[in-house]
Amino acid sequence: MKLSVDQKKCRGSLECIKTCPQKAISLINGRAVIDPAKCDGDGICIPACPNGAIQPIE
Ligand code: SF4
Repeated sequence: MKLSVDQKKCRGSLECIKTCPQKAISLINGRAVIDPAKCDGDGICIPACPNGAIQPIE
């Protein structure tokens, strides 16, 4: 599973960053961005986001 962060929904709460075991998410310009090279697609960050900003893209 590949995931992306909807930049319009992200509020930079940092909840996904704290949750990701791969440390694949970083904050860029106040919004979360997933590094696809580090992400293993486990989906743990999806329910962690209070704004529903993380979604599968395929
Ligand atoms: S799917 Fe898993 S590895 Fe990928 S960013 Fe979310 S928590 Fe991290």
